[in-house]
Amino acid sequence: MHYNDIKNVIEKNNFSFKKKFGQNFIVDQNIIMSIINKSNIDKDTLVIEIGPGAGSLTVMLAEYAKNVLCFEIDETLKVVLNETLKEYDNVDIVFGDFLKQDVNSYLKKYNYKKLYVIANLPYYITTPIIMKFIEDNIMVDKLILMVQKEVGNRFSAKVGTKDYSSLSIFLNYYFDINKILDVSRNVFIPKPNVDSIVVEFCKKNSKIYVKNEELFFKLVRDSFKQKRKTIRNNLKEYDLDKIESILTKHNLSLQSRAEQISIEVFADIVNNY
Ligand code: SAM
Repeated sequence: MHYNDIKNVIEKNNFSFKKKFGQNFIVDQNIIMSIINKSNIDKDTLVIEIGPGAGSLTVMLAEYAKNVLCFEIDETLKVVLNETLKEYDNVDIVFGDFLKQDVNSYLKKYNYKKLYVIANLPYYITTPIIMKFIEDNIMVDKLILMVQKEVGNRFSAKVGTKDYSSLSIFLNYYFDINKILDVSRNVFIPKPNVDSIVVEFCKKNSKIYVKNEELFFKLVRDSFKQKRKTIRNNLKEYDLDKIESILTKHNLSLQSRAEQISIEVFADIVNNY
C-alpha cells in the first residue's frame, strides 16, 4: 500500500489524531525502507511492533518478517488498520496498553528463530516500554526504536556525563547500542516539535559478570535515587565500609556521585559485597 493511500485511509475513516497517545505517524517511504534494510528481518523473524498507528511501518514489516505482533492502545485505529493490512495474514493486533500486557504469554503462540522489536515509539512512555522488556524478561534479540533525539542520546551516555543514569547502565548491561538513523520532524503527520533518531539495541553476546543481578539493579537504582547526593547519602542502608573499600580501589570514595561510577565498578561492588 502506498503512503498516499494511508493518508487517504486516515481521512476516509475520519480518524482524529490523539496527542495523549503520542500519535505522530510516519509518511515517508524512504525512512521506513531504511529501517527495514538496516534491521535484517527475514522469514524466521517474529517482530513485535508497539503502536502500529495507521500501519505504515507494519505493512513493510509484514512483507519481510514471518509474523508481526502489534500492540495498539487506540481502538479507533481498528478500522484504519483493517484496511491498510487487509492483504496480510501474518499480522496480529492486540488492542490495549502495551505496558499492561503479558507479552511472554502471547509469544508462546509463535514459532520463530529471532525476536525483534521494531517501533516508532510514543514519546511519552519511551523509557517504561524499554524497561518492560528488561523487567519482564522478554527474550528479544534486537530492538530498533525510533525515539525523540534527546532521549535517544541518553541511552548510550558515558560515565561522567550529565545524561549518564541508571537507565543507561541497565541498557548497556544488556545491549550494544548504536544510532542508525537521523529522522527529521518533517516526515510525520502531525509534525512533532522535535527531531527523532533510530537506535538499535543488540543483545550482548557476553554480559559483564554480575554475581547477583537483583542486588546490582537495586544498588544502581539506589545510587541514582537523588542524583546530586553522594554515594554515602544515597546508600545509607548498605554496608558503607565494604562499598568504600571497593570504591577506593578505583580511585573513588563515598563522596563520589553515582554519575562518576562506571558499570564495571558497580559490578565490582556487587561481586564483592
Ligand atoms: N507506528 C506508527 C507510525 O510510525 O506511523 C505510529 C507511531 S506513533 C509515534 C505511536 C503509536 O503508539 C500510536 O499509534 C499510539 O496510539 C500508540 N500508543 C501510545 N501509547 C500506547 C500504549 N501504551 N500501548 C500501545 N500503543 C500505544
